[in-house]
Amino acid sequence: MYTFKEIAEVIGGDLVSDADGNVDRLVFDTRLLVGTSGCLFFALKSDHKDGHRYVSAAYEKGIRFFVVHTDFEVPLKLKNAGFIKVPDTLKALQELGRFHRLKFQLPVLAITGSNGKTIVKEWLSQALSFAEKITRSPRSYNSQIGVPLSVWQMDAHTTLGIFEAGISQPGEMERLREIIQPTLGLFTNLGSAHQQQFSSPEMKLAEKLRLFRHVDLVFYGRDDALVHEQITTTYPQKEFLTWGRHPEADLNLIGEEGNGEKHLTMKWKGELYHFDLPFGDAISIENVLPVILVMFFKGFSAEVVQRQISLLQPVAMRMEQKEGVHGTLLINDSYNSDITSLETALGFLEQQGRKNGRLRTLILSDMFQTGLEADALYPHVAQLIRGKGIDRFIGVGEVLQKYAGHFRESDLFFKTTEALLEALPTMNFRNDAILIKGARAFRFERIVGKLELKQHSTVLEIDLDALANNLNVFRRRLNPGVKTLAMVKAFGYGSGLFEIAGALQHQKIDYLGVAFADEGVELRQAGIALPIIVMNPEVKSFGQMLEYQLEPEIYSFRILEAYHRMVQKETNELQPIHVKLDTGMHRLGFMDDEVTDLMDRLKAMPELKVQSVFSHLAGSDEAQHDGFTHGQLVQFEAACKVIRDGLDYPFMRHVLNSGGIERFPEYQFDMVRLGIGLYGVSAVGEPDLKHVTTLKTYVSQIKQVKAGATIGYGRRGTVQEGGQIAVLPIGYADGLNRRLSNGVGQMWVGDRLVPIVGNICMDMCMIDVTGLSVAEGDEVIVFGEVPSIVALADQLDTIPYEILTSISRRVKRIYFKE
Ligand SMILES: *Cc1c(COP(=O)(O)O)cnc(C)c1O
Repeated sequence: MYTFKEIAEVIGGDLVSDADGNVDRLVFDTRLLVGTSGCLFFALKSDHKDGHRYVSAAYEKGIRFFVVHTDFEVPLKLKNAGFIKVPDTLKALQELGRFHRLKFQLPVLAITGSNGKTIVKEWLSQALSFAEKITRSPRSYNSQIGVPLSVWQMDAHTTLGIFEAGISQPGEMERLREIIQPTLGLFTNLGSAHQQQFSSPEMKLAEKLRLFRHVDLVFYGRDDALVHEQITTTYPQKEFLTWGRHPEADLNLIGEEGNGEKHLTMKWKGELYHFDLPFGDAISIENVLPVILVMFFKGFSAEVVQRQISLLQPVAMRMEQKEGVHGTLLINDSYNSDITSLETALGFLEQQGRKNGRLRTLILSDMFQTGLEADALYPHVAQLIRGKGIDRFIGVGEVLQKYAGHFRESDLFFKTTEALLEALPTMNFRNDAILIKGARAFRFERIVGKLELKQHSTVLEIDLDALANNLNVFRRRLNPGVKTLAMVKAFGYGSGLFEIAGALQHQKIDYLGVAFADEGVELRQAGIALPIIVMNPEVKSFGQMLEYQLEPEIYSFRILEAYHRMVQKETNELQPIHVKLDTGMHRLGFMDDEVTDLMDRLKAMPELKVQSVFSHLAGSDEAQHDGFTHGQLVQFEAACKVIRDGLDYPFMRHVLNSGGIERFPEYQFDMVRLGIGLYGVSAVGEPDLKHVTTLKTYVSQIKQVKAGATIGYGRRGTVQEGGQIAVLPIGYADGLNRRLSNGVGQMWVGDRLVPIVGNICMDMCMIDVTGLSVAEGDEVIVFGEVPSIVALADQLDTIPYEILTSISRRVKRIYFKE
C-alpha cells in the first residue's frame, strides 16, 4: 500500500520520526482493534474526546505509526515509532482518503438522504455483487471520519464504489464530496433528522445536494415535490432518473398487491413489469425502488432484476446481546459480510469476555461479499482469531472447512448449520461469551434459539446506540471543557445499572452518580473505573465506600463529621467529597446560613478535599418556575463564592440536570448531571433525541368473544358487539400500571394502537383486536416509539421517570448495539 514516508508527503505533514514498514489500515479508536500490523493511528480531536490521550495506549497495543497534532509532545518512551505532525488530524485523514480515491478511475455511486442510506447501499451491493467487485462503506460509515475510512478500502480489484454520505451540520458535505469524488449520485429522501442545525428544510437539502455537484446522473425519489423542485433547479444541466408513485417518475410504481410478501407492478420506458418481493413492509418497498431503478439503468433484464431482488436480505444493523443457557452470554450479529464488521464484533467479544473472566467462543459461517478472495480472506480470519484470544472457534460452511488447515487444531468445523445444531448438546458452554456471526443463508437464528435462556415473553429492549446518540445530543450543547456526570440511580432509570454505566464509560463520560453505596459497589465489581458519586451515603456504608473508592455527597454536618472520623481512622490519603447545597429543593443539602460554619469545619479537616460543590434544581424543566430557578442559580453561585474564598484550592461546580442543560445553558459551570435526557425525554422537544427503551410482549392467545361478553376481573371490560381479544403475558406485577385498565392505556400492534380492555391482572392483560389480523405469537409494544413513555406518563398523570423505574426486575433486559 503506502510507506509511512509517502503518507507524510500525501498529507503534507511533518515527519518528526520515521518508522519502517507499510501502512494498510487507518484507525482512530483502538478499543475494539484486532491486530495492529500496518495500522496508522490518527489522533482525532472532538469537543469531548481527544485521541492524543490514547496515543500511549495505542503504542502499548503495538501500533507504530501515528498522525498527531503539531503541538503534541511525543512521549520519549514511545521508541521505534513513526510520528507525522499536522495542524489538523481529521483534515489529514480526509486528505489521505481523497488522495487514495483519486488513484481509481471507476464508477463511484454516492448515496445521501435522511433515511435508508445504509439499506439502499447494502441492497445495491447484494443485487449487483454477481456482476461487480464492489467496495462499499462498512455498516453506516458515512461521517467525516467514516467516509475516508470507507474509500480507503478501494483496491485494484474494485470495479464499483458505493459510499454513503451523512451530515449533521452545514459545511460538511463539501468535504465528503471531495473525498468520495462520485460519478453517480443517489438521493433517498428528506426527513427531519438534524433539522435544528439548519434554518429550513430547503437549506438542509441544499447542503445535501452539494454531494452531486460533479456527477453526471442523479437518482432520486420523485414523490417529494420539494426534492424534485430543488434538485432540478439546482442542477438544470444534469441527467436524472427517478422512482416513485408520481406518474412522471421514470420507474413508476403503479400497483401493490398482497398482504405479506408484496407483488409490485411498475412502468419503465413505457413497458409494464411485475416483481415479487421477499418482504412487504412499506419501508422495504421504499428502499427497493432505487435498487430496481439502478439495475434497469445498468441494463439488466427484468428476469435478472427479479432474480436479484428475491435474494435481498434484511440488513441487520445491530448486535444483539442475550442471556444464554448455562450462564452464557450470546452476542448475535447477523451482519456478516465484511471484514471490518468481523473485527468490530471480535473486539466487542473480547471486551465482554474480559468481564467475569469468560471464555470466548466464536461461531462463524462462510462469509459472502467481502470483496476479498477466499485465499486471502480465511487465512486473515484465522490470524484475527489468534490475535484476539478467542478460546474456541467453530466454523460453519464448506469454504471455511476447506481452510481448516490455517486454524488451530482445537478449532471445530461443520459443513452445515444442521450438523452444528446436532453437535450443540455435546458442547460444554459454561459461562462463555459466544459471538454468533452468520450470513443469512446459514440461518444462525436457529443456533441462537437453541442457546437462548428461554424463549421469552415480555422484554425490555435497550438500544445502546440511541443512548450514545442522546448523550452526544446533550454534549453538543455544552461549552468546551464542561464535564458530564450521568446519573444511573434506580438501576440506571430501570434500564440496567452495569450495562448503562458500561456503555457510558465507553462513551467517555467523566463521572457517574448513584443513589446508594451498594450500587457503586456493584459497578466497581463489574469493572467500572469512572469516578462515582454516592448521592445518599449512609454512615454504615462508609467503610465500603472507602474500599471501593466511592465519593460521598456530603449534605449535613452529621454526615461530614462521621465521614471525616472514618477517613482519619481508615486511611492516610486525601479523600474527595462533594458538597451539596440546598438552594430551594429542600431535600438533602446545607442551607445558606450553614455555609460559613461548614467552611470553618472543612478548614479543620485537611484529610478531605472538596472535589465539587453542587446543588439541584427543583423545576428546571418548567417555564412556570423559571423565576424560582434563577433564584436557586444565583444563590448557588453566591454560596460557591463563599466556599471558594475559604478554600485555598479550586473545585468543580455543577447544578444542571437534563432539563437544566436544555433550558439554562449559561449555568453549565464545570460539569452537568444528565439523567432522563439520556432516555430521550426532553424539556424542549429536542428532535434529535431517540427513544432508548422498548417494552415488548407478545400475544399468548387470541379469543373470539360474543356480543355483551365481559372481560377479566370485576367484569369491567366489554366488547359491545362481540369481537376478538388478545391475551398478553404482562400484568401489573411487571410494572404495567393497573390504572391503564379499561381503555385508558393503549398498545401498538402491527400498525396501530389498540386499547387495553378490562382490568389489568397481576401477570396478564387483554387488548381489543377486533377486526385486525393479529395472530398468536405476534409482537405487541407496550411502550417504545409509540406509545412513548411521555405519552404513557401523561395518561397516568405521572412523569416518564416513574414509567421507566417501575418496570419490574423480572422483565428481562435485552441490549442492542450497532
Ligand atoms: C436524578 C438526579 C439528576 C438527574 O436528573 P434528570 O432530571 O433525570 O436529568 C441530577 N442530579 C441529581 C442530584 C439527581 O438526583
